[in-house]
Amino acid sequence: MKKNAAVLFDKDGTLIPDIPYNIDATMVELRSGIGPVLGELARRGYALAIVSNQSGVARGIFGEDALASVWERLQELASAYGARFSAFYYCPHHPAGSVADYALECDCRKPKSGLVERALRELNADPRSSWMIGDTLDDIEAGARAGLNTALIQGGETEWLRGPYRSPGHIIDVPRDLLNIIPSSARRRRYEKVHV
Ligand SMILES: [Mg+2]
Ligand SMILES: [Zn+2]
Repeated sequence: MKKNAAVLFDKDGTLIPDIPYNIDATMVELRSGIGPVLGELARRGYALAIVSNQSGVARGIFGEDALASVWERLQELASAYGARFSAFYYCPHHPAGSVADYALECDCRKPKSGLVERALRELNADPRSSWMIGDTLDDIEAGARAGLNTALIQGGETEWLRGPYRSPGHIIDVPRDLLNIIPSSARRRRYEKVHV
Protein backbone atom coordinates (compact mmCIF):
# COMPACT_ATOMS: atom_id res chain seq x y z
CA MET A 1 0.00 0.00 0.00
CA LYS A 2 1.26 3.43 -0.93
CA LYS A 3 2.32 5.46 2.05
CA ASN A 4 1.35 9.02 2.85
CA ALA A 5 3.62 12.03 2.89
CA ALA A 6 3.52 14.28 5.92
CA VAL A 7 4.76 17.71 6.88
CA LEU A 8 5.45 17.95 10.61
CA PHE A 9 5.70 21.37 12.21
CA ASP A 10 7.26 22.52 15.41
CA LYS A 11 4.74 24.78 17.18
CA ASP A 12 6.43 27.60 19.10
CA GLY A 13 8.45 29.91 16.90
CA THR A 14 7.45 27.99 13.77
CA LEU A 15 3.66 27.92 13.50
CA ILE A 16 3.03 30.62 16.09
CA PRO A 17 5.14 33.34 17.70
CA ASP A 18 6.95 31.88 20.71
CA ILE A 19 5.36 33.01 23.97
CA PRO A 20 7.06 30.75 26.53
CA TYR A 21 4.68 28.39 28.36
CA ASN A 22 1.60 30.13 27.01
CA ILE A 23 -1.56 28.04 27.18
CA ASP A 24 -4.03 30.92 26.80
CA ALA A 25 -5.69 30.03 23.50
CA THR A 26 -6.78 33.62 22.93
CA MET A 27 -3.10 34.56 22.61
CA VAL A 28 -2.42 31.91 19.99
CA GLU A 29 -2.14 33.34 16.46
CA LEU A 30 -0.43 31.96 13.37
CA ARG A 31 2.85 33.59 12.49
CA SER A 32 2.80 35.82 9.45
CA GLY A 33 2.73 33.93 6.17
CA ILE A 34 2.24 30.39 7.47
CA GLY A 35 -1.54 30.14 6.94
CA PRO A 36 -1.45 30.10 3.13
CA VAL A 37 1.43 27.61 3.27
CA LEU A 38 -0.67 25.21 5.37
CA GLY A 39 -3.53 25.54 2.90
CA GLU A 40 -1.33 24.89 -0.11
CA LEU A 41 0.42 21.89 1.47
CA ALA A 42 -2.97 20.38 2.29
CA ARG A 43 -4.03 20.86 -1.34
CA ARG A 44 -0.81 19.18 -2.44
CA GLY A 45 -1.89 16.12 -0.50
CA TYR A 46 0.34 16.25 2.55
CA ALA A 47 -0.85 15.19 5.97
CA LEU A 48 -0.05 17.99 8.42
CA ALA A 49 0.82 17.49 12.08
CA ILE A 50 2.42 19.28 15.00
CA VAL A 51 5.38 17.94 16.99
CA SER A 52 6.07 20.02 20.10
CA ASN A 53 8.08 19.97 23.33
CA GLN A 54 5.76 20.98 26.19
CA SER A 55 7.95 20.78 29.28
CA GLY A 56 5.55 23.15 31.03
CA VAL A 57 3.66 19.99 32.01
CA ALA A 58 6.70 18.45 33.73
CA ARG A 59 7.51 21.80 35.30
CA GLY A 60 4.03 22.03 36.82
CA ILE A 61 3.14 25.22 34.91
CA PHE A 62 0.09 23.69 33.23
CA GLY A 63 -1.62 20.34 32.88
CA GLU A 64 -2.02 18.24 29.76
CA ASP A 65 -5.69 19.24 29.64
CA ALA A 66 -4.69 22.87 29.11
CA LEU A 67 -3.03 21.90 25.84
CA ALA A 68 -6.39 20.80 24.44
CA SER A 69 -7.62 24.38 24.10
CA VAL A 70 -4.41 25.40 22.32
CA TRP A 71 -4.84 22.43 19.98
CA GLU A 72 -8.43 23.43 19.21
CA ARG A 73 -7.35 26.99 18.53
CA LEU A 74 -4.60 25.87 16.13
CA GLN A 75 -7.10 23.71 14.27
CA GLU A 76 -9.47 26.66 13.98
CA LEU A 77 -6.70 28.91 12.65
CA ALA A 78 -5.64 26.31 10.07
CA SER A 79 -9.19 25.72 8.91
CA ALA A 80 -9.46 29.36 7.87
CA TYR A 81 -6.92 28.43 5.17
CA GLY A 82 -8.57 25.16 4.18
CA ALA A 83 -6.09 23.07 6.14
CA ARG A 84 -6.39 20.78 9.11
CA PHE A 85 -3.87 19.06 11.32
CA SER A 86 -4.10 15.30 11.53
CA ALA A 87 -2.55 15.21 14.98
CA PHE A 88 -0.86 17.19 17.73
CA TYR A 89 2.05 15.29 19.23
CA TYR A 90 3.71 16.73 22.28
CA CYS A 91 6.32 15.69 24.82
CA PRO A 92 5.20 16.61 28.36
CA HIS A 93 8.46 15.45 29.95
CA HIS A 94 11.59 17.08 31.27
CA PRO A 95 14.32 15.44 33.36
CA ALA A 96 14.45 18.50 35.65
CA GLY A 97 10.67 18.70 36.03
CA SER A 98 8.87 19.08 39.35
CA VAL A 99 5.92 16.79 38.59
CA ALA A 100 7.08 13.28 39.40
CA ASP A 101 5.15 11.50 36.65
CA TYR A 102 6.76 13.64 33.95
CA ALA A 103 10.21 14.31 35.42
CA LEU A 104 12.11 11.79 33.39
CA GLU A 105 14.52 11.26 30.56
CA CYS A 106 12.20 10.24 27.72
CA ASP A 107 12.70 9.35 24.09
CA CYS A 108 10.19 11.86 22.76
CA ARG A 109 11.62 15.24 23.75
CA LYS A 110 13.22 16.83 20.69
CA PRO A 111 16.07 16.54 19.62
CA LYS A 112 15.17 12.90 20.17
CA SER A 113 13.04 11.43 17.43
CA GLY A 114 10.37 9.54 19.38
CA LEU A 115 7.51 11.90 18.55
CA VAL A 116 8.49 12.11 14.90
CA GLU A 117 8.62 8.33 14.61
CA ARG A 118 5.25 8.05 16.28
CA ALA A 119 3.83 10.59 13.82
CA LEU A 120 5.17 8.63 10.85
CA ARG A 121 3.71 5.43 12.22
CA GLU A 122 0.28 6.81 13.02
CA LEU A 123 0.01 8.82 9.80
CA ASN A 124 1.37 5.86 7.79
CA ALA A 125 3.89 8.26 6.27
CA ASP A 126 7.08 7.53 4.35
CA PRO A 127 9.97 9.48 5.91
CA ARG A 128 11.62 9.99 2.52
CA SER A 129 8.68 12.00 1.22
CA SER A 130 7.95 13.69 4.57
CA TRP A 131 9.30 16.86 6.11
CA MET A 132 10.14 18.27 9.53
CA ILE A 133 9.88 22.05 9.73
CA GLY A 134 11.23 23.94 12.73
CA ASP A 135 12.96 27.04 13.97
CA THR A 136 15.73 25.32 15.97
CA LEU A 137 18.38 22.71 15.28
CA ASP A 138 16.70 20.45 17.86
CA ASP A 139 13.72 20.23 15.49
CA ILE A 140 16.06 19.46 12.60
CA GLU A 141 17.85 16.74 14.55
CA ALA A 142 14.59 15.07 15.58
CA GLY A 143 13.43 15.00 11.96
CA ALA A 144 16.74 13.94 10.47
CA ARG A 145 17.14 11.10 12.97
CA ALA A 146 13.86 9.70 11.70
CA GLY A 147 14.97 10.06 8.08
CA LEU A 148 12.78 13.02 7.09
CA ASN A 149 13.67 15.95 4.86
CA THR A 150 14.24 19.05 6.98
CA ALA A 151 13.88 22.80 6.73
CA LEU A 152 14.81 25.44 9.28
CA ILE A 153 12.98 28.76 9.30
CA GLN A 154 15.46 31.36 10.52
CA GLY A 155 14.72 33.40 13.62
CA GLY A 156 14.48 31.01 16.56
CA GLU A 157 17.90 29.38 16.66
CA THR A 158 20.50 31.33 18.61
CA GLU A 159 23.12 28.75 19.61
CA TRP A 160 23.73 26.87 16.35
CA LEU A 161 25.18 23.94 18.29
CA ARG A 162 26.40 21.62 15.56
CA GLY A 163 26.53 17.85 15.63
CA PRO A 164 25.27 14.76 13.84
CA TYR A 165 21.85 15.28 12.22
CA ARG A 166 22.00 19.02 12.90
CA SER A 167 22.61 20.30 9.38
CA PRO A 168 19.26 21.46 7.97
CA GLY A 169 18.43 20.27 4.47
CA HIS A 170 17.22 23.80 3.79
CA ILE A 171 17.49 27.09 5.64
CA ILE A 172 14.80 29.59 4.72
CA ASP A 173 13.83 33.10 5.72
CA VAL A 174 10.05 33.05 5.49
CA PRO A 175 7.36 30.35 5.55
CA ARG A 176 6.42 31.01 1.90
CA ASP A 177 9.81 29.57 0.86
CA LEU A 178 8.55 26.14 1.94
CA LEU A 179 6.36 26.02 -1.13
CA ASN A 180 9.46 26.13 -3.34
CA ILE A 181 11.29 23.29 -1.62
CA ILE A 182 8.49 20.87 -0.73
CA PRO A 183 7.50 18.95 -3.90
CA SER A 184 4.27 20.09 -5.48
CA SER A 185 2.68 16.68 -5.22
CA ALA A 186 2.84 14.59 -2.09
CA ARG A 187 2.36 11.55 -4.28
CA ARG A 188 5.48 11.99 -6.36
CA ARG A 189 8.30 10.23 -4.58
CA ARG A 190 11.56 12.10 -4.53
CA TYR A 191 13.67 9.00 -4.87
CA GLU A 192 11.48 6.97 -7.13
CA LYS A 193 13.30 4.41 -9.21
CA VAL A 194 12.97 4.75 -12.93
CA HIS A 195 12.11 1.42 -14.53
CA VAL A 196 13.46 0.86 -18.02
MG1 LIG B 1 10.40 26.24 18.18
ZN1 LIG C 1 8.93 13.05 26.26
